[in-house]
Amino acid sequence: MSGQYEELSCPFCDKGRITCLYFPSQWSVKTKRTKTLPGGGSVNKSTEVWLIQSGCKVCGKSAEEVEKELKKQGII
Ligand SMILES: [Zn+2]
Repeated sequence: MSGQYEELSCPFCDKGRITCLYFPSQWSVKTKRTKTLPGGGSVNKSTEVWLIQSGCKVCGKSAEEVEKELKKQGII
């Protein structure tokens, strides 16, 4: 139910700290993490949720831009 705060590096300048609220796979009730089955389908691939709380204070990117870039890079 409750999320936790995490800090990610800014994907643009790599210097800023981005504050995120992270919800680990709260909707996948079955298993926590099954990495033992390579090629075994990807049903619960990404049920984690990241909410970007702040933009980058170093390079001035907004939270929205940071989120977009992090997703593009496959970080979140
Ligand atoms: Zn930055």
